Amino acid sequence: RMVGEFVDHVEGAPASRGLRAAASTERFGGKVVLVTGGASGIGRACVRAFAAAGAEVVVVDVDGAGASAVAAEVGGFGYAVDVTDGEAVAALAERVRAEVGVPDVVVANAGVAVSGGFLETSAADWARVVDVNVWGVIHTLRAFAPQLVERGEGGQLVVTASMASYTPSRTLPAYATTKAAVLMLAQCLRAELAGRGIGVSAICPGFVHTNITRAARFAGVDAATQERLREVTTRRYLRRGFPPERVAAAVLDAVERDVAVAPVTAEARLGLLLSRLSPAV
Ligand code: NAD
Repeated sequence: RMVGEFVDHVEGAPASRGLRAAASTERFGGKVVLVTGGASGIGRACVRAFAAAGAEVVVVDVDGAGASAVAAEVGGFGYAVDVTDGEAVAALAERVRAEVGVPDVVVANAGVAVSGGFLETSAADWARVVDVNVWGVIHTLRAFAPQLVERGEGGQLVVTASMASYTPSRTLPAYATTKAAVLMLAQCLRAELAGRGIGVSAICPGFVHTNITRAARFAGVDAATQERLREVTTRRYLRRGFPPERVAAAVLDAVERDVAVAPVTAEARLGLLLSRLSPAV
């Protein structure tokens, strides 16, 4: 599938639409919510949570098949777009406005991780992670923020930052740098849009068990610690209820209460444990 190519949107079953329209008391009933990186992990959990709360959901992902599948699951709309392609994101915004409506909530969530110390990180890896995690968020906000401003009915912009945004790391310097950048961007935009009734929230999760963390494989950490981390993240962590759904719940809460910066606090205990195990993580 070509980068930036659109997939046909997937219409929801009429029955589910009808049910949604009838339940006007739903938390996000009548709202349009767009999520980038919505085909997997935290983004997919957000899509499901917003849809379950009554929203009309727009799933955007470079993985077009994944976006279509998740959209079909919730009776929403799926679009295949690479967020690093500014023109494609701008075209997406126009198309969504025409086909679904101006989103009330935009979750700029698509991201990639690059692990390895600064001395080992190639220029190509830096370019990739900056392109997706920083430029991808900039393109998304540049495309949608003006629509919300122009419409004049408020709304909420959300950026998936990270605990890495403010926690120095020897193993994820490139990733952490990009996450620090988007945390600051969210706060600047929040200040700028404050008078227009548009809120901006930065969500800062720690370790969540998704494809990104599987891919990172705790590079640069010794084998024994890797094993311990794997055990903590796969067994205890999940058993204690810290899947992507917990982050999605924090996103809905941040949108509803216009939270500026939302660390996903359930992780505090794990963060402490990780820092004891290995100050490098
Ligand atoms: P994930 O890999 O499961 O999901 C990321 C999604 O983004 C994928 O569907 C992927 O196809 C999509 N994507 C990647 N590049 C894209 C591009 N150029 N254009 C459009 N879509 C693209 O990972 P996740 O853990 O769900 O990550 C979601 C966000 O959460 C990321 O911004 C990540 O940095 C952030 N985050 C994750 C964790 C964690 O521990 N998993 C912690 C803090 C923050």
